[in-house]
Amino acid sequence: MKILFAASEADPFIKTGGLGDVAGALPRALASEGQDIRVILPLYEDIPFKYREKMVFLGATDVWLGWRRQYAGALCLKQDGVTYYFVDNEYYFKRRGIYGFYDDGERFAFFAKAVLELMSVTGFYPDVLHVNDWQSALAPLMLDVFYRDRSEYANIRTMLTIHNIEFQGNMDKFVIGDVFGLPESHAKIAEYKGDANMLKAGIESADKVVTVSPTYAKEILDPYFAYGLEHILQERQYKLSGILNGIDTVKYDPLKDKALFQNYSAKSLARRKKNKAGLQTLIGLPQCDKPLIGMVTRLTSQKGIDLLLHVIEDILVMDLQLVILGTGDWKYENALQELAARYPKKLAAIISFSADLASKIYAGSDIFLMPSKYEPCGLSQLIAMRYGSVPVVRETGGLKDTVIPYNPTDGTGTGFTFKTYNAYDMLDAVRRAVATYENGEEWKKIMSNAMSADPSWDKSARDYIEVYKSILNK
Ligand code: ADP
Repeated sequence: MKILFAASEADPFIKTGGLGDVAGALPRALASEGQDIRVILPLYEDIPFKYREKMVFLGATDVWLGWRRQYAGALCLKQDGVTYYFVDNEYYFKRRGIYGFYDDGERFAFFAKAVLELMSVTGFYPDVLHVNDWQSALAPLMLDVFYRDRSEYANIRTMLTIHNIEFQGNMDKFVIGDVFGLPESHAKIAEYKGDANMLKAGIESADKVVTVSPTYAKEILDPYFAYGLEHILQERQYKLSGILNGIDTVKYDPLKDKALFQNYSAKSLARRKKNKAGLQTLIGLPQCDKPLIGMVTRLTSQKGIDLLLHVIEDILVMDLQLVILGTGDWKYENALQELAARYPKKLAAIISFSADLASKIYAGSDIFLMPSKYEPCGLSQLIAMRYGSVPVVRETGGLKDTVIPYNPTDGTGTGFTFKTYNAYDMLDAVRRAVATYENGEEWKKIMSNAMSADPSWDKSARDYIEVYKSILNK
């Protein structure tokens, strides 16, 4: 099968979050399943030179956006069995940073159209065009409106993955005609509640819509989770489903991870101790065997930081330690730093983004706390489990699908969970985890259950292939 995977970021070239992880790992997994998979993304200024210097120029064309005529070049790089195409346009992409500009709507409308137009330059006309999130979500609609009458494009099927429905590419309605160039007959498809909405255009136009966990696929039918799009999704439930993300099990491997003080596996758990001691010293907490709770997270309301702050003093009176690594809203950053100054022996708050320290926390903490308000899939709990840090999570989205509540009667389960978005329910789950930690043998059992869960991409890649096949056979 020929698949073109369009995304606004992809590891290892450029990444700001979960989408970048998925766009890095899923294509590699699809390639090892024997698919002809190619990835297309913008050629940002921030893509490191070591990749840029290896790219080969394939050709260029013009892309029309309303009345604008813009240059689009295609560069190519082959890596790990996957062909990557980079869309070159210096006016839109030669800037520091990748999102957050006043003209993001125009930049990504250009990207979506260039994905289609550049097929004539690369010569790669896919069976399935797989777009991701709002930044490429306009492509299925543009395909229908501007390209279907060309024979090479006539049979391309389309699929949209929603990684987080909060971000929809909302803009003033004016852009629908002026920038997207859509005729009156199709303008309504890109409009929602009086604004332009790029994600909604994708949901309406794609043959299939997938989210990154089965539970999130159900949750986004509900106004609490859907950020206003519940009606659109309810009407299109017939083409909506969920496929769990995996993690890169080569990159996230406690036996190989160079950031750790001591490498270990499920068979050599005793070695893990050195990681706890090393972490405690590094972050300025006293070395001891009390339970150490870790968090590696964006500091935003999505991640349940409000719940944490509501009961943090109840947590800190327990005989334990807490380390939080994160960046985000200044109000959370300040509150955590202030608390860390008040409880220097119990709480360490590191306001920074550090993959190295993140690994050390996954390997050195006993418990991993992730009380998200909503969580499309979540990668952190999967990494934590692989490193033997037992997750305490709220039962939402991918957290519900990946963490099995511990059952003391039969010793099954991989973590501790709570249902309602309520600080005291979270506190109760933390207390249950801490009490269980006291029983060393029981705790080891949960750790090995968590570490033996399979978070690899293999199964998910096969699930994606089934979906591709289903839309091709329509
Ligand atoms: P989201 O994409 O919503 O932020 P995920 O759990 O899906 O949440 O993915 C988060 C990823 O980013 C994980 O790999 C996590 O380790 C990493 N991460 C989050 N915050 C930090 C940080 N401050 N430093 C290093 N890595 C971080």
